[in-house]
Amino acid sequence: MFLEHPSSMGHDTGSHPEQAARLRIIERELDARGWLGFERVQSPAADRATVQAVHPERHIELIERLAEHGGAMIDADTIVSAGSFEAALHAAGGAVSLVDRLLDGSAPTGFSAHRPPGHHAETSRAMGFCLFNNVAIAARHAINAHGLDRVMIIDWDVHHGNGTDDIFHEDDQVLFLSIHESPLYPGTGAASDVGSGAGRGYTVNVPVAAGTGDDVYRSLIDHVAAPVARRFAPQLLLISAGFDAHVDDPLADCCVTEAGYAAMAASLRALCTELGIPFGAVLEGGYALTALGRSVAATLEALGGPAPPPVSSQSGELAVADDSRRALARLQEFWPGIA
Ligand SMILES: [Zn+2]
Repeated sequence: MFLEHPSSMGHDTGSHPEQAARLRIIERELDARGWLGFERVQSPAADRATVQAVHPERHIELIERLAEHGGAMIDADTIVSAGSFEAALHAAGGAVSLVDRLLDGSAPTGFSAHRPPGHHAETSRAMGFCLFNNVAIAARHAINAHGLDRVMIIDWDVHHGNGTDDIFHEDDQVLFLSIHESPLYPGTGAASDVGSGAGRGYTVNVPVAAGTGDDVYRSLIDHVAAPVARRFAPQLLLISAGFDAHVDDPLADCCVTEAGYAAMAASLRALCTELGIPFGAVLEGGYALTALGRSVAATLEALGGPAPPPVSSQSGELAVADDSRRALARLQEFWPGIA
């Protein structure tokens, strides 16, 4: 299932890198591949109460009011246009609907592709091109509306998902794991940020250096994210799927390729099959247009195509990267014996 809505095009950011052409190129690429067997679904707008479970009403009202008055810059990077409130409600609604359909069994996997993206939006603050935190709203909805106790979010966008980190910082029901280039915007996501209060150990930040490519990214998925998931035993996995770690991306300096995204998606699919849980992805960043279209297609193919081999046999082929060893050493404090 591929969730989308025309209101995404009405979030008018002009020549900003986070622009409507991103979704048009994804659509063109998937159209050329017969949508890879994915059913296209129109996303509903999220209910206000569902958004309020993450963002206070004053934050929602601010975005609504700015849109009603024709739009404004929230900061140097983050734009609200006249169509942005409706777009943001459907972007959140797509992620919520993804969760509903995954949990009611109507689709084995899915991808929610909307603008604006979400993972930089904190509880009370829009930033970094993001207005509402779509993946966080969806994860909270899985707990509040479906009664889940444990949801895992893996964020492979090249930027740290500071918003998601903020929202679930003290939460032990949502395990947030982010792989991100450092140093880079927004400057958060140090390995020492492990969550707080009851949420200590349930935030896993894995910064990587500029130049990091497919093998290290996949090693971090297979050798860090997978063992953490086996311990945490989530009932649902959501991927905060940005594609700006791509080698062609103009906003960052990592070197992931389409094959790398496919490999990470295949590993996570095998992991979720092993754990017997549903999984889906929510679009975040990705600004090299051709690379974005191809990377989303590669991800969908791996998430929904013929089943990949189990993760254990894949792991056997891939050396454990030094980044993974360091992350595993740090995780011993909270997840003893993990490997
Ligand atoms: Zn990003």
